[in-house]
Amino acid sequence: MAIVRCFGKPSLFITFTCNPKWDEIMRELFPHQTPNDRPDLVCRVFRQKLKCLKKDLLYYHVLGKVIAYIDVIEFQKRGLPHCHMCLILDKSHRLPTADTYDDVVCSEIPNKITEPKLFQIISNFNTHGQCGITFPNSPCMIDGKCSKKYPKSFVDTSSIDKYGYPLYRRRNDGVTFQKKLNGFIFNNRWIIPYNKHLSKKYNAHINVEICSSVQSIKYLYKYCYKGHDRTTASVSINNVDETSQFIDARYISAIESLWRTLDFEMQDHSPAVYRLDLHLPNQHIILFQSNTDINNILTKNPGTKLTEWFKINQLDTDARHYIYADFVRYYVWKPLSKQWLKRKRGGNKVIGRIRTVSPKEGEVFYLRLLLNYVTGPTCFEDLHSFNGIISNTFKDACIRRGLLSDDAEWNHCLEEGLSFKMPYQLRQLFSVILLHCEPRDPLGLWNSFKFYLCEDFSKKISPEPDNQSRITLSPKISRYATSIKF
Ligand SMILES: [Zn+2]
Repeated sequence: MAIVRCFGKPSLFITFTCNPKWDEIMRELFPHQTPNDRPDLVCRVFRQKLKCLKKDLLYYHVLGKVIAYIDVIEFQKRGLPHCHMCLILDKSHRLPTADTYDDVVCSEIPNKITEPKLFQIISNFNTHGQCGITFPNSPCMIDGKCSKKYPKSFVDTSSIDKYGYPLYRRRNDGVTFQKKLNGFIFNNRWIIPYNKHLSKKYNAHINVEICSSVQSIKYLYKYCYKGHDRTTASVSINNVDETSQFIDARYISAIESLWRTLDFEMQDHSPAVYRLDLHLPNQHIILFQSNTDINNILTKNPGTKLTEWFKINQLDTDARHYIYADFVRYYVWKPLSKQWLKRKRGGNKVIGRIRTVSPKEGEVFYLRLLLNYVTGPTCFEDLHSFNGIISNTFKDACIRRGLLSDDAEWNHCLEEGLSFKMPYQLRQLFSVILLHCEPRDPLGLWNSFKFYLCEDFSKKISPEPDNQSRITLSPKISRYATSIKF
C-alpha cells in the first residue's frame, strides 16, 4: 500500500493464467505424457511467458506507460499457476472516462470470420463457466446467486456504476456460440473482459479489468494477498480426552511445490519499498549469536536505520533537507556496515515506508508523527525540542508543534487506514481514536469516514443498494458491531 499512497490508485488489474496446452509445453512431452505429468515443464514455460508479458506491459508499455506495479503468483486447487497484477499508469496514460475503456478492454465475442484465432482463444479461455439456477453446484454460486455476478447485463456503451465499477460494453448483437461439452449457449453476457492484443499474443486466459474508478481499492489488494488455499481437517485420536484436534492445513499442488523448489519468485513489485526502522530510544532490536559476549554487543550498540539517520544528519548538511521517509531516495542503506551512503542513482525507484502504528501504542505513534513532519533531526532529543522548549514526551512535542491542534492528524490516520484496512479494522481504529486521542470533533470524523466504516454492511447485507432500506438492520448490526467493543 506504500506504493498506492505514493503513486495513486492502480489503473489496471490483470489476471494471467497458464495454458497447459501451449505449444512450448506440448512439444516437449514424452510419448503418452500429459501436461499433468510434467509440473516442471508447466512451471518453466509459464514463468517464461510471464516474463514476456511483463516485458510487454512494463517496458514496451502496450497498455500505457506503467509507473508502478505489484504482482503475485497463485496456484489453483487443480494446480495451474496464475498471476494477479496491479498496474499504476502514468497520469497521461490513465483512462479518464468510460468511453475510452473500449480501446483497452473488450467483453464481447470476437468475430468468428474476421478474427478466427481470437474467437478460438476467447471461447476457450474467457467465458465464465455455466452457472445460475440450472447449475446450482457451480463453484461461483453462493446463496443461489453467481458471486461474480454473471451473466452480466447487455449494455450498448461502457459506463461506470455508482460504486465506481466499470460496466463494459456488451451489445445484444445476437452473436452466440455453443460449447461441445454440454451444449451451453454463450452470448456476450458470459464473456470475461480481455485485451485483444494480449489474448491473441499469449493464447491463454488473460482477464484485463480497469480499476482506476473503483472506490475501494483495498478489495483488489485483498484479492491479491488473500493467501494460500487452506483446509481445516479434523483428526480423531482414540483414548485421548479431546475428541478431535483441528489442524489448519495447507494444500500444495505438485506445480506449486516445483515452483518453490526452483526458487521462482512468488511476488514482485516496483518501485522497491524500503522498510524503515521505528523505535523509541534504546528500544531497538539487536540480533546476536548466543555465544557472543553480551557486554561487547552493548558497548558496540550497532545502529539502526533510524539512529544512523540521526547520525548522518549530524555529519551531512545535505541530508537535513528531508523527512525520514523521503530520505531513502537520496541515501542508500548498507546493511553490512549499517550506515547510510549518498545514493548515486535509482532514487526514483524506491520509496520509504515507516510501519503503521495504532494510536494506542502511545509514544511510538507520536514519534512516527514527528518523523513524518520534522526534517533533519540529529537525535531523539532534537525531536523533543521546538522553539527552544524541550518537551518530556513525543506527544507533548507534537502538541507544541501544533500537530494535534485540530483533528487533521486523526483524519490523516483514518485516511491512511482506508487504503489497506478492512471496515472492521477501521472501526477498531476509529474507536481507539475516540477512546485514547480526544478528537475535537468526533461527529465530524464519523461523517467524513462513515461510508468506509460501514462499507461491509452494504456489501454483506444487500448487494443492491436500492434494496437496503427495505431490510431490517438492527439484528445484523448487533451481530457485526461486536468488533467495535466500546
Ligand atoms: Zn457464476
